[in-house]
Amino acid sequence: MADQYLQGKVAWVTGSSRGIGRVVASHLAGLGADVVVHGTSPTSTRAFAEADSLQAVADAISAEHGGNVLAVHGDLTDPATVDRLTEQARTRFGRIDILVNNAGGDIGAQGVLGEGGGKPIHNDAIEISVEDIHTVINRNLMTCILVCRAVAPEMIERKAGRIVNIGSIAGLAGRTNGAIYAAAKAAVHTYSRCLADQLRPHNVTVNVVAPGGIVTPRFLATRPVDQSKIQEDGTLVRYGWPEEIAASVAFLASDGGSYISGQVLRVDGGMQLWPS
Ligand code: NDP
Repeated sequence: MADQYLQGKVAWVTGSSRGIGRVVASHLAGLGADVVVHGTSPTSTRAFAEADSLQAVADAISAEHGGNVLAVHGDLTDPATVDRLTEQARTRFGRIDILVNNAGGDIGAQGVLGEGGGKPIHNDAIEISVEDIHTVINRNLMTCILVCRAVAPEMIERKAGRIVNIGSIAGLAGRTNGAIYAAAKAAVHTYSRCLADQLRPHNVTVNVVAPGGIVTPRFLATRPVDQSKIQEDGTLVRYGWPEEIAASVAFLASDGGSYISGQVLRVDGGMQLWPS
């Protein structure tokens, strides 16, 4: 069994019904944390056939790692829902030690079940619809801000806490395709740095993990995939795996991350080599 260095900690991973978030939640549970798993609905796990239900995800993590796992669901672009879910987590576990804001994705107003896995149909800086602009910004930036606002005060009170926001290397460069998503993730990076500054006196770290292309079912379903880059090992010129994101999040939540704050950590195999 891996060193259970998160034993006694409570971690909430937003957007852990599937994809990267699910693996992060499972990884933190494997390190001993009690975890709160979350998706927008009890069965949104079915979108890419990753699980029959959110509860099934919670049960699988609990069965694998033996810890306490709570499943909560709701749309985190809604402030009242954010408050309700935060309260549910606190009622069950008493506090939130580690917050991972992972909910997001380049998914427009049609949702993941829409054409092309839900990416905005005109996904550039000019032709994208106003509805898609609002949705992408809300899904990536507002969810992060609202959940930080709900959880941080209690961390301030306890003078302890770790916040890891999932950004993207898309937010660290200009691009035509996925322009609003890139802008939203860049804003997540900047919001995280601002929050990190505010929380310094309170001993709460705030960092960003910015993944490169990571092999998740939605990733595979929503773009032309370069098969030569689906490799486990032996080269960094490949896509990444959710476990590699989970390991970075765990490091930032560990004792080793105690003096690291306000950083944007690319986890992209060195694809982008300029300062973040
Ligand atoms: P998935 O689409 O597989 O998972 C996204 C998660 O976010 C789901 O759990 C989804 O819930 C949740 N979510 C989406 N919108 C909302 C909302 N409004 N309120 C609450 N929850 C919401 O994506 P990935 O695992 O691929 O990506 C996870 C994160 O990593 C995202 O932030 C993404 O932008 C980022 N990222 C991913 C990369 C990749 O290559 N995969 C690269 C760089 C960054 P539900 O299941 O209910 O829809």
